[in-house]
Amino acid sequence: MTSDFERAAEEFLQQIGREHYQNGAGLKENLDIIPIFDRYGWIFERSTVEEALKREDKEGRYIAAFVADGFLDADVKELSEKITNQMTQAKIEWQGEQVPYRRATLVLANEPDPGKRHDLEDRILTVTDSQNTDRVERMQHMHILAKDLGFTNYLVMFDQLKGIRLDWLLGEMKQLLDTTEAIYESELQHYLGEIGVAPDEATPADLVYLFRAPQFDGLFPQEKLVPSLKATFIGMGIDLDAQKNIHLDIESRPTKSPRAFCAPVQVPDEVYLVISPRGGQDDYKAILHESGHAEHLGSVSPDLPFAFKRLGDGSISESYAFLFDNLLKNRNWFIEILEQRHVDDYLRLARFHKLWIIRRYAAKLQYEQLLHTAEDIPSMRNKYAEILGKALKLNVSPANFLADIDDGLYSANYLRAWIFEVMLRKHMEDSFGVLWFRTKKAGDMLVGMWKQGQEFSVDELAHQINYEMLDTQPLMQELAR
Ligand SMILES: [Zn+2]
Repeated sequence: MTSDFERAAEEFLQQIGREHYQNGAGLKENLDIIPIFDRYGWIFERSTVEEALKREDKEGRYIAAFVADGFLDADVKELSEKITNQMTQAKIEWQGEQVPYRRATLVLANEPDPGKRHDLEDRILTVTDSQNTDRVERMQHMHILAKDLGFTNYLVMFDQLKGIRLDWLLGEMKQLLDTTEAIYESELQHYLGEIGVAPDEATPADLVYLFRAPQFDGLFPQEKLVPSLKATFIGMGIDLDAQKNIHLDIESRPTKSPRAFCAPVQVPDEVYLVISPRGGQDDYKAILHESGHAEHLGSVSPDLPFAFKRLGDGSISESYAFLFDNLLKNRNWFIEILEQRHVDDYLRLARFHKLWIIRRYAAKLQYEQLLHTAEDIPSMRNKYAEILGKALKLNVSPANFLADIDDGLYSANYLRAWIFEVMLRKHMEDSFGVLWFRTKKAGDMLVGMWKQGQEFSVDELAHQINYEMLDTQPLMQELAR
């Protein structure tokens, strides 16, 4: 692989990153990624992919994962763009108004009446379902291409290229679902009772509303959102105001994506942290989470090779993101940063939220194992509803059977990151005390890890902090408590 390749790949990532930033931030209506793929098409041609797949060194493995993934993306780019643009432009009729599809979830989260909430949820799902023919076609294409590249199937391709150790992870997640079932069920009953929803009528929309949790808004004032973020980092010796390469985008815009994201246009020189403030704990969680990505990617050593700056194990950056959003489950953080002491009820809900989301991803991974080996994709609709419904003990609509799935087994990245985050956090507490986030030494340790970019997988990072390997026990113990 020549440096021509690396230069072109870097330009490609910058242009795609900028396009996603501008569209997601609501600054640009259409997502124009096709011209970018056309310009850099040769990066993802079969011959480049085949050459990369022959490499066995670490940089080569990361490049192979990137080009193979891009080879699939390039083939479905028209469908991807069509689906994204439909989502940006779609409107939902709601109480005499036309609500943008992307914004409807925010309206849903704030609808206290269960009947109205379920009605709006149905309307959102109808729009989602109307895009599913395109999503099926897109997935079918990607499944065929994975086999064309010589892999048994799509699942095996990403497991191997990303070093996921899928069999191990699926085994651990089965155990996690079993271990946490009783506590999940009793907490769910408790909270459904609080919001007045009968368990046999409950849907994911009810939990979206529950986790919006307006009763705790007083703990999370809008005007303290950015100052508390800065205070958290300054406690570790990291001054956000001095970091000219990290841009905070918190302005509200009508077509801004409701899902917060970090857009690393140039690593480490131009990183955007984008959130769409809606009030309450979600904003705090999102800004802390995305700041973990932004600090990681904004601190990467500029001298690293392209593959270690830009590619590699996606679980690494997620681990840092989780380390910070998890501060919202830390009583000491509330005392130190928000000067709040009466947080018991909030912490209970925050723990339930984490349990819910990890069970959801564990179930998604089980479903993806079937989806990505299925001959007939449309027939997987009901499997999705069944597997997710069983894990979450809710009425789950089949309409999200593809919209809820991220490409390239990203759910496994999240799960591996949740496992590693607890290990890392315990290491920080053991080394620097429970107030680790108030010590410069902890900040120095993190910056040292961030500099390494994505050279080392979370399995290797576990080694760096004195573990044998990834260990799910700390996460399971924390969740089952
Ligand atoms: Zn993330």
